Amino acid sequence: MTDRKSELETLKADLTARLSRYEAHQHREDGALDKDFEEQATQTQNDQVVDSLETETRAELAQIEYALARIEKGVGSDCESCGKAIDPRRLQVLPYTTVCVACAEN
Ligand SMILES: [Zn+2]
Repeated sequence: MTDRKSELETLKADLTARLSRYEAHQHREDGALDKDFEEQATQTQNDQVVDSLETETRAELAQIEYALARIEKGVGSDCESCGKAIDPRRLQVLPYTTVCVACAEN
């Protein structure tokens, strides 16, 4: 079984790297390339896609940081809702979760 904390840290590093690529894309300064309209339209679509990916990635990152903070406090494998231990198999599949199966389904 892989160590959950190091798994989360790897995930966090991946997402942080991805996020900086999205940010680089959004803040690019190659506006001069958008000459014709068709290109601009594609560009706008891409921007919207990247925008939602960025939002999604930020949310995932926040969840991972939250899970890591709970691990730091020594309550990482306790359900934050009912306080019972989260099934280790669940933590293996969803290392960033902070609630047990029962609470997640409610
Ligand atoms: Zn629970």
